[in-house]
Amino acid sequence: MKYVDEYRDGAVARRIAAAIAKAADPARSYHFMEFCGGHTHAISRYGLEDLLPANVRMVHGPGCPVCVLPVGRIDMAIQLALRPEVTLCTYGDLMRVPGSHGASLLRAKAAGADIRMVYSTLDALAIAAAEPEREVVFFAIGFETTTPPTALAIKLARARGLANFTVFCNHVLTPPAIRGILEHPDLDGVPGPRLDGFVGPAHVSAVIGSEAFAPFAREFEQPVVVAGFEPLDVMQAILMLIRQVNDGRQEVENQYIRAVTPEGNVIAKAEVAEVFELRDSFEWRGFGAVPLSGLRLRDAYRDFDAEQRFAMAEISAADNPACECGTILRGIKRPTDCKLFGTLCTPETPMGSCMVSSEGACAAHWTYGRFRDHARRNVA
Ligand code: SF4
Repeated sequence: MKYVDEYRDGAVARRIAAAIAKAADPARSYHFMEFCGGHTHAISRYGLEDLLPANVRMVHGPGCPVCVLPVGRIDMAIQLALRPEVTLCTYGDLMRVPGSHGASLLRAKAAGADIRMVYSTLDALAIAAAEPEREVVFFAIGFETTTPPTALAIKLARARGLANFTVFCNHVLTPPAIRGILEHPDLDGVPGPRLDGFVGPAHVSAVIGSEAFAPFAREFEQPVVVAGFEPLDVMQAILMLIRQVNDGRQEVENQYIRAVTPEGNVIAKAEVAEVFELRDSFEWRGFGAVPLSGLRLRDAYRDFDAEQRFAMAEISAADNPACECGTILRGIKRPTDCKLFGTLCTPETPMGSCMVSSEGACAAHWTYGRFRDHARRNVA
């Protein structure tokens, strides 16, 4: 398939791996954070860490939208779904994310709540149009990639006079999370990860543009390479990062030129800016409240804001104390550092959000990485 096969070519991967091995200085180590869950998935799925020298280490970041949603927002969604007049529309992954006391949207649905799995905002709009007697709420999550479709759905709902459609908005922004990691790397006294650069997100950058990451190169002296999600994209980005480190450069480079421009998608950004504004702060799992990191609907669109229509109270709830999602999302620990990994916690019985989505570090390691761990142990 064009634009896929050529980015999964094993012979080319081995050539880039050889170039990485040659470029990596044996007298030092390199620690690069892949911010995005799509990259975490690609690294696990294609075994890219096996192609890297021992002194080049990848650190998982917080860029999985299902993973960073805090327990309190799941609890709010469950409360909303239990209202008799509400039909809550949500993506499939969110159904299984644990809330407080073992609750989840899946369990609420089993208990009778009207919760429907959708594939897009347009599915939710269609339900609102077909069932005008129901209050249809779209549970909106995600980074800058999924925000434009939510903005368009809200504008379409207004244009079509769908007064029974609202959005429970949980959209978050990538740059404030990177800033949070760089400004406050430690968590509860546990030292943060050493970082020598970032693999910048792919689809997010297609919307916001590669220049959005310039402050991290300038202020924090961190090299950034925006990369696509295919294995050769990631390998090339790692090589570019190593070369920046070796040269003492801290720049934003764009490996994903087939999709990303410096300024991004200006039309999508304008649609988002028309409908949404920044919240003063928003809670992230593992981060606490991050300033200016979440979006809410502007006053001009408050009729479509579920938090306003249903007077939803903010809930703050503690994570499962045995779950290490918080430290994993900050790059401090790895999935196998969690005592519950693969014992009590599996994709069938997730105890934390990182085991739910395929972009979650725990789910990715369970699906792919554990087999390589097993093979390595057998060889040793
Ligand atoms: S294995 Fe499960 S409980 Fe442990 S950190 Fe991952 S999601 Fe949380």
